[in-house]
Amino acid sequence: MSNPVLGILGGGQLGSMLAMAAQKINIKTIIYSNDENAPAQKFCNEFMCGEYSNNNLINKFIKKVDIITFEFENIPYETLNQINKIKPVLPKPSINRIIQHRLAEKDFINKLNIRTTRYISIKKKNEINTCEDFLPGILKTTTLGYDGKGQYKINSIKDLDNINPDFKKEYILEKLVNLKKEISVIITRFGNQKYEIYEPIENVHENQILKYSKIPAEISENIFNKSKNWAIIIAEELKYIGTLCVEFFIDQNENLYVNEIAPRVHNSGHLTIDAYNISQFENHIRAICKLKIIKINKIANAKMINIIGDQILKYKDKKFQSNEFFYDYLKKEIKAKRKMGHLTILKG
Ligand code: ADP
Ligand code: MG
Repeated sequence: MSNPVLGILGGGQLGSMLAMAAQKINIKTIIYSNDENAPAQKFCNEFMCGEYSNNNLINKFIKKVDIITFEFENIPYETLNQINKIKPVLPKPSINRIIQHRLAEKDFINKLNIRTTRYISIKKKNEINTCEDFLPGILKTTTLGYDGKGQYKINSIKDLDNINPDFKKEYILEKLVNLKKEISVIITRFGNQKYEIYEPIENVHENQILKYSKIPAEISENIFNKSKNWAIIIAEELKYIGTLCVEFFIDQNENLYVNEIAPRVHNSGHLTIDAYNISQFENHIRAICKLKIIKINKIANAKMINIIGDQILKYKDKKFQSNEFFYDYLKKEIKAKRKMGHLTILKG
């Protein structure tokens, strides 16, 4: 059987890295994005630009591909569901529906007896007055947030005078965790009890945006094992196919919490491109295209640095050592807080 043609919804850097991984294993990619400047168009075999609600164009896209995946989880569920009726969308759209919504996501995780931060649904500002128990906390939109967008830190009730969230949207108030560390676990599930799992990655955020990731994570053996087990339980329960990332908090008392699940390849896993024989991107494609499972092997420890905003300028003409791998996302416009590239440094 010849290799399937892979359709990818979304054209950001994750789309670029998926397309590059696909090319390496001879899988053709067609990317569909609503951004005419989508950087991933430089790395795929064919690029289509249109709104996700443009049924005509989406239908043309479906005809050209065999399997569809996505590089960001906020593509409307309806779009994914419609596509899935004609050609398989992996991971399944029903998984997205849970994970797109912070309340549904946390309810799902707690049902598995896995700890999350304490949380409560908030629909009106004055409801927060009776939620002192959840303060200090973070008010987050239930849908469509990323990199800390749509989030408000609330230390005490009187802070409410200084913030003005748009209550046309729904929110979740999460109790602030006294963070010691953040880690993530990336797992690629191929089928029932068949998966490849990467070791936990330690993550440092600045202004709610990931700044550094590194392996090995400096964590106890207990946290190392528990975080991997929880990621396996979540992937199995979702009957997930492809690469998934679970983000965790560790508090000052060594308690582990799931922060959120990303039903896709993840920024903290960029170091897998250079530090492992098979990256999170290639594994995602292998799983959704039903290719052979190759056991993953760590080649080296690594640190990944996200290059944000105009920091990219100083990297563009920098000379790199042989253990340094620079990725320029080739975004047309530099914006503050925008992820513009990354650098992975392999160690020993
Ligand atoms: P996003 O969808 O924007 O990634 P997250 O919920 O992961 O949103 O929040 C981004 C970052 O903000 C987290 O990685 C963490 O550093 C910080 N953060 C979010 N929620 C909490 C919390 N309840 N306690 C402590 N820190 C938090
Ligand atoms: Mg996050």
